Amino acid sequence: MGAQIIDGKATAQRIQTELAQQVSRWAAKVGRAPGLAVILVGDNPASAAYVRGKERACQKVGMVSFGHHLPADTSQQSLETLIHQLNQDPEVDGILLQLPVPPHLDENTLLNLIDPDKDVDGLHPVNLGRLVRSEPGLRSCTPAGVMRLLADLPIRLEGKYAVVVGRSKLVGKPLALLLLEQNCTVTIAHSRTPELATLTRQADILVAAAGRPELITAEMVKPGAIVIDVGINRVTDDNGNNHLVGDVDFARVLPVASHLTPVPGGVGPMTVTLLLENTFRSFCRRVGEP
Ligand code: NAD
Repeated sequence: MGAQIIDGKATAQRIQTELAQQVSRWAAKVGRAPGLAVILVGDNPASAAYVRGKERACQKVGMVSFGHHLPADTSQQSLETLIHQLNQDPEVDGILLQLPVPPHLDENTLLNLIDPDKDVDGLHPVNLGRLVRSEPGLRSCTPAGVMRLLADLPIRLEGKYAVVVGRSKLVGKPLALLLLEQNCTVTIAHSRTPELATLTRQADILVAAAGRPELITAEMVKPGAIVIDVGINRVTDDNGNNHLVGDVDFARVLPVASHLTPVPGGVGPMTVTLLLENTFRSFCRRVGEP
């Protein structure tokens, strides 16, 4: 029997439909819709595509997106000034700095300047600190999206052994903390982890967030495991066609796992959805939701 495919696109659609209703109710009540400012520096095609997707999603649920698409040579100083302005802007509930930024910019300093209560990507040290302390706060969108997909399964997470492959501040580390919060026992593996397969083969929940095409093979998966593929890798096939693959060898892992996310259509749509949810949460707090 093959794994059940976790349809992130359908889940994202369902959440967005509910969100659109709430947005419309609240916008009528307070006289404005939630606003998301998206800062994109340079013309990295992948980043530009992600930003377009986020701005489209905003409009779909009735939120306003304020695009700040700036040239690649934008200075640190002018970005810092822009972030200060957006922090003060009463129409802006969420601020997203699309990563990566060009190498002449200091990414951490810019992220640190974002008002933690508008930090809808959950990357400000205050929000990461709240996560470590299990306090309420804005959580990173991709890890939060993974947790929503897991929460939708008819499976108790408590006591499960989870292995997260990847230790980035964007995905691996916050996700490990969120799994820990649900009482999983968590191991974080990374590029220097020896014997990766020995670890992954024990995982009840295996999350791949390494950015390595089809790193996770069928032999690395415990029969019946839940496998979440966060990776998005653009590869060129023998005919010269480009397509997206995840970090998991989907076709071969399918007969082994109990649940598996596809790429595309798995975690990706959830990331955008959680960004919208975070923006709405921030809006509600600012307009004084009871
Ligand atoms: P990153 O490059 O910052 O981190 C990759 C991590 O993987 C590192 O911690 C590294 O140690 C680990 N790693 C690399 N090679 C490895 C190997 N051979 N074995 C074990 N660990 C290895 O990347 P990131 O920002 O965390 O993103 C990871 C992947 O997820 C990328 O493909 C990215 O495109 C994708 N991503 C998807 C979404 C989404 O919405 N689906 C969102 C963010 C990132």
